[in-house]
Amino acid sequence: MKWKEQILSLKAYQPGRTTDQVKKAYGLTDVVKLASNENPFGSSEKVKECIREYADSFAIYPDGYTTGLRTELASFLNVSEKQLIFGNGSDEIIMMLSRAMLEPGKNTVMPTPSFPQYRHNAVVEGAEVREVELVNGAHNLDKMADSIDENTAIVWLCSPNNPTGIHITDVQLRGFLDRVPEEVLVVLDEAYFEYVTADDYYNALEIIKEYKNVLVLRTFSKVYGLAAFRVGYGFADESLITQLEPVREPFNVNSLGQKAAAAGLSDQAFIDQCRTANKEGLEQFYAFCRENGLDYYPSEANFILIDFKCDSNELFEYLMSKGYIVRSGAALGIPGTVRVTVGSKEQNEGVMSAMKSFLAETVKR
Ligand SMILES: *Cc1c(COP(=O)(O)O)cnc(C)c1O
Repeated sequence: MKWKEQILSLKAYQPGRTTDQVKKAYGLTDVVKLASNENPFGSSEKVKECIREYADSFAIYPDGYTTGLRTELASFLNVSEKQLIFGNGSDEIIMMLSRAMLEPGKNTVMPTPSFPQYRHNAVVEGAEVREVELVNGAHNLDKMADSIDENTAIVWLCSPNNPTGIHITDVQLRGFLDRVPEEVLVVLDEAYFEYVTADDYYNALEIIKEYKNVLVLRTFSKVYGLAAFRVGYGFADESLITQLEPVREPFNVNSLGQKAAAAGLSDQAFIDQCRTANKEGLEQFYAFCRENGLDYYPSEANFILIDFKCDSNELFEYLMSKGYIVRSGAALGIPGTVRVTVGSKEQNEGVMSAMKSFLAETVKR
């Protein structure tokens, strides 16, 4: 077979264990998944109502222009409909951008550790990957700007960054963008945007007006609680979107997803509640870390990376045996830590109590 050379060394995405698998393996009746930054409160009631009503026309292809959702979202964001692109999750837009711009001879600059799909798609396209280490969980924007040359096609920024939760400030972002040549695309991945409360955060809608080479990614998978439907979107100056559109598959956003996302968007009260509950949850974790002398990264997202300075796979296995699935920092490139999705108050108390017994048991040994 004539595979691209670089595919041969790539590994397929390793899904974590499902709650059912963990229940079986450890004989547990209750398992809480705090591993994928899903919304512990589910989704808006409006979504459930709208999906119940939509139990026919399954023989019909989706609306290939995502018209209804497009109109709603354009008015919500106050952008033109032509400034939007939709994907089967923002994952798919990362793939479209990589496909449209990356190839052997080009390079792409990204932070590390960060969202793995930037690197993965660049490797598939045969582009050179330039990874710039985080400093204290934050982007090293100076070094990222220094890494750009005439062959750089895309720079990826993730704010707040997954897996550290650290955001980029308005001053930092503008300082960086002023250094990026206008023919280099900057992708600003804001998968956790709706959770942000920091005062020094930038306004992405202003940014795309001032910098025509910036494309912002957001998703309905996280705070909207609609990960099952796979709907993400990008917004940018119209000229960028127009050039990217031909790379998109004709029916990439499924019909139910289009309906569900529009219903979710219409219930901003739900989003506000989730943001508030998340903030309270983060405070629970901060207090826990202080009490137990643990370092952590202050987070603007719905997860927290805690430094246990231990074998993070061991802690990961231990928590799983107690019914809590988290992400091991070893798997994320920050050994000694675990990343925990902020759950409901009770879920947070539960996982913290399991963490406490782990600490007590490891001290005894
Ligand atoms: C979850 C996540 C995504 C992917 O979201 P989908 O829209 O579900 O594909 C993208 N970027 C980051 C940083 C994420 O954490």
